[in-house]
Amino acid sequence: MDAGSSVLTAGLDLGGTKILGVVADAAGRMVAEQRRPTPPGPAAALSEMAAVLRDLRAAVPGVAAVGVGAPGLVDLEGVLHYAPNLPGFEGVEVRASVEAASGLPVSVDNDANAAALAEVLYGAARGRSEVLLVTLGTGIGGGIVTGGRLYRGGHGFAAEIGHVTVDPDGPPCACGGRGHWEALASGTALGRMGREWAARGDAPGVLARAGGRADDVLGYHVGAAALEGEADGLALMSAHGRAVAIGLGGLVNVLDPEVVVIGGGLVELGDILLDPIRAELPAFMEAPGRRTLPLVVAAELGEHAGAVGAAVLARTLAPSAGLGSPQESTVP
Ligand SMILES: [Zn+2]
Repeated sequence: MDAGSSVLTAGLDLGGTKILGVVADAAGRMVAEQRRPTPPGPAAALSEMAAVLRDLRAAVPGVAAVGVGAPGLVDLEGVLHYAPNLPGFEGVEVRASVEAASGLPVSVDNDANAAALAEVLYGAARGRSEVLLVTLGTGIGGGIVTGGRLYRGGHGFAAEIGHVTVDPDGPPCACGGRGHWEALASGTALGRMGREWAARGDAPGVLARAGGRADDVLGYHVGAAALEGEADGLALMSAHGRAVAIGLGGLVNVLDPEVVVIGGGLVELGDILLDPIRAELPAFMEAPGRRTLPLVVAAELGEHAGAVGAAVLARTLAPSAGLGSPQESTVP
């Protein structure tokens, strides 16, 4: 038996609403799972992350290292500098805190970076080396895999694709900017479009699903109407698909990925979400008729992608994985 196959690592995904933790083996199989709601403020959240980790280690002894995925700007030292959708998380020393609480080596990266790694190893982009992951949820997250490895940039902040400016005069973004892709094409933006259309009388089916109050329309109501084949829901999904494609086309021009994996909460809508994106994407690419277009597919690991990817990141820290051992670091 390969000694590496017995290595167990934990992955923690710090989300806006919940902390999801898993223990995974060297084949990416989840052998334990725990979750707790995310409390407000960094101190309480770090404490709950430590509690999730304690629960996991009580359920499965032998965890050798820990990975953390966090939603924002994570530097190469494991400090979360900024998280647009987690108020108060600025300059939070995530790695140092989780190491102190657990006594284990800890690796921290952006949550979408972690998810991209998991989808490439075990999910929708298995066997691909040039991959762009886009998460459409409260915001828009991104992860870039090139040459089979995560692209982190010079400081760890690469792939913050949601904050590319698409319209300088557009709606405000959660980060304080304006007209960023996230403000125009996230799940939150889909809800705002639904409210605007409903308020001006263009989305009667969606409006009815929200109890007749335009202010109460959410992305959920738009998706539900579209899934039932109602014209206003489908038209809203088409407009949303165009907003996604405007940003995605530019990224495809830059990166030329083999596969674009779409994750995040909206992907539960399946082809109702993806087909308008696929239809609109070529219009925002260079010479779409003279090149191979990327596949646009749904993420397969669902809500577990970030936590599993974080557990993968931790493997390089696990002494028993053999990585960084004297034999392997010797230059022949
Ligand atoms: Zn922004």
